[in-house]
Amino acid sequence: MSHIPSTQKLFTEDEVSRVTGICINHLRKLAQLKHLGSLVRAAGAEAEKWLFTNSELMILNVLCSRCDHEDQQLSA
Ligand SMILES: [Zn+2]
Repeated sequence: MSHIPSTQKLFTEDEVSRVTGICINHLRKLAQLKHLGSLVRAAGAEAEKWLFTNSELMILNVLCSRCDHEDQQLSA
């Protein structure tokens, strides 16, 4: 697992995905299933994005191991 910067308070789904190795699709499903993270819509942005706290990132990392499939470009 990669080093998690402890000073950072919020992580985007892209950052969490990169750090944990969990793909975006699984990450979003996990977030909904476990009630982790916050779904936010940035001003002017088309898509909603998940934001996770440092502790939620840790939980996700424990809950789910790194994805070993290669289909990370699949749409949800
Ligand atoms: Zn996956």
